[in-house]
Amino acid sequence: MEDKNSTPYLIDVDHISKSFEDLHVLKDVTLKIKPKEVVVIIGPSGSGKSTLLRCMNGLETPTSGTVYFDGIALNSEDNLNKVRTEVGMVFQRFNLFPHMTVIKNIMLAPMKVRKVSKEEAYARGMKLLEKVGLKDKANAMPSQLSGGQQQRVAIARALAMKPKALLFDEPTSALDPEMVHDVLDIMKEVAMEGMTMVVVTHEMGFAKEVGTRVLFVDHGTILEEGTPEEVFDHTREERTKNFLSKVL
Ligand code: ADP
Ligand code: MG
Repeated sequence: MEDKNSTPYLIDVDHISKSFEDLHVLKDVTLKIKPKEVVVIIGPSGSGKSTLLRCMNGLETPTSGTVYFDGIALNSEDNLNKVRTEVGMVFQRFNLFPHMTVIKNIMLAPMKVRKVSKEEAYARGMKLLEKVGLKDKANAMPSQLSGGQQQRVAIARALAMKPKALLFDEPTSALDPEMVHDVLDIMKEVAMEGMTMVVVTHEMGFAKEVGTRVLFVDHGTILEEGTPEEVFDHTREERTKNFLSKVL
């Protein structure tokens, strides 16, 4: 239960299980992630991928076992508050604040949580918008942007907090096909800059190209894991083969 003072892992999921009443969603999952890793999670719908991701930033509490983030156990309100500001999350549905301009969406958390000055938050926000190719949309409202553009803003907003890790839950699943590429390109760029990332996705091209490790989650367990080459080209488990035959 104690914090770990020194650990090589940024995210240390230690034998967690999660049940919703009598539905056992995660079953004794252990997953250790070092800084700068890009871990891609694949698997069928309902297998527990989102729940696993949500346990990593304290949005869900495991029924048993512990998640450590940067050595801090996510088992008290105090610790959760410390960690939540260090982990960015990008969801399937762009959850920008609808009543705020793009730039205000990005400036809000750094000013409120990190106590960054308005000027600095603005300067940093504009830089991030430039990075995601949307500098000219700074004063637009989210509803004036396409889904892909909104998702790029969501990534910029997450980066504005200078998080230690970014979690993505099917960030391109709700996008029109022609928007997917732009979002994946930005994720790739962020990965190349050394961000620690955990990405739930059905984009196998991204998994192969950017993933340092691929996990196949099935029925609440990590059934198979390895390098992209191991999982895609030398698949061991029948269930993984079956899943890949449907998505590739
Ligand atoms: P995936 O992301 O792989 O599709 P999820 O982690 O979202 O899977 O869900 C796994 C299972 O847990 C599903 O059967 C889902 O209905 C159930 N589940 C997820 N969240 C809750 C919740 N808050 N309450 C009850 N059941 C849930
Ligand atoms: Mg999910």
